[in-house]
Amino acid sequence: MDIGLKVWNEVKDNLSSAKVYLKEFLFFNAIFILFSFLIIDNRIIVFTLIILLFLLSLVFLNMVGYKRKGELNEVKSVVAGIRKNTFNRPEEIKLSKNLQALQEEIKQMFEKEINDIEYLKKLERVRTEFLANVSHELRTPIFAIQGYIETLLDGAIDDKNVNKNFLDKANQHTINLSNLLSDLIDISMIESGEMRMSYRYFDINEYISQIIQEMTTMAKEKNIELVYHPAKAGLQLFGDKSKLKQVFTNLITNAIKYTEHGKVEVLVEEEQKYAKIIIRDTGIGISQEDIARIFERFYRVDKARSRAVGGTGLGLAIVKHIVEAHNSKIEVKSEPGVGSEFSFRLKK
Ligand code: ADP
Repeated sequence: MDIGLKVWNEVKDNLSSAKVYLKEFLFFNAIFILFSFLIIDNRIIVFTLIILLFLLSLVFLNMVGYKRKGELNEVKSVVAGIRKNTFNRPEEIKLSKNLQALQEEIKQMFEKEINDIEYLKKLERVRTEFLANVSHELRTPIFAIQGYIETLLDGAIDDKNVNKNFLDKANQHTINLSNLLSDLIDISMIESGEMRMSYRYFDINEYISQIIQEMTTMAKEKNIELVYHPAKAGLQLFGDKSKLKQVFTNLITNAIKYTEHGKVEVLVEEEQKYAKIIIRDTGIGISQEDIARIFERFYRVDKARSRAVGGTGLGLAIVKHIVEAHNSKIEVKSEPGVGSEFSFRLKK
């Protein structure tokens, strides 16, 4: 009795699984019946055939339903496995032979899901790290300013030997703080995709000469020669002038900041379709390991030195973004103790 009920339930299940093909079966049965009536005169044979066909159809529907149910269960259990994180790697997902195409699709979907989750986790880590860095960077100048002001209030204000010096130092830290805030605003604008670019052709010699002129005082203060080797007269290059100004200013400022003696040169070398822009210095240089990291946000080879010269650790990250927005790449060649060369290309 029990077995009979079990089989009946199984058959019911199979038939309900095969319900999707019911229309097709009815259609073929109807055609068969019609032809049987047309071709065969003997009514008894026709009715026997119809009953036989009906029984065969039931058996066939049961078989098809059984197979379909099995396949659906396989897919269901794989999807449930993904939902419950049972799989660690796409290779663990396996379906039977006739479902290979579906298996590949599910594998790819699973792989994408793993990558997306990894990416989100990485973003979260980067965000936390960035916040920690920003807080640290803000705290340093604020604590310093606070320290100087408190010392002055505690009596140092009347000590002519130190009062001006302390005020100068506090002032330098407010400048650092303001540099940091403007770099932070720039980097967040760039990274949130809000940087609007406005490209056009401009005279590169005129443009760089103007920047060099503005930066000469800074170089002179450090006794460094700042030289521009112009390109052929009237050479027009394509780019966003205002964003590129930040690139030139950051690279030339760095070249001056990290050079103790010698010179800083800016060169424009014409190529076939591009012009290569080079900023070269005779400064402290950068080791190979550090070259790989200087474009990271807040990375400095020598933190104290960078802070002492008003660095924020964000300059090169901003430069990289802007240069890449020009479909170019920033390249660095450097030798510690000899000097550094930063270069990128602009379209002619
Ligand atoms: P910072 O504000 O500290 O200068 P940057 O992002 O501009 O930050 O540069 C990152 C680091 O790369 C600097 O702290 C410095 O150690 C190194 N660096 C950049 N430019 C030069 C250079 N021309 N010569 C030597 N070191 C450099």
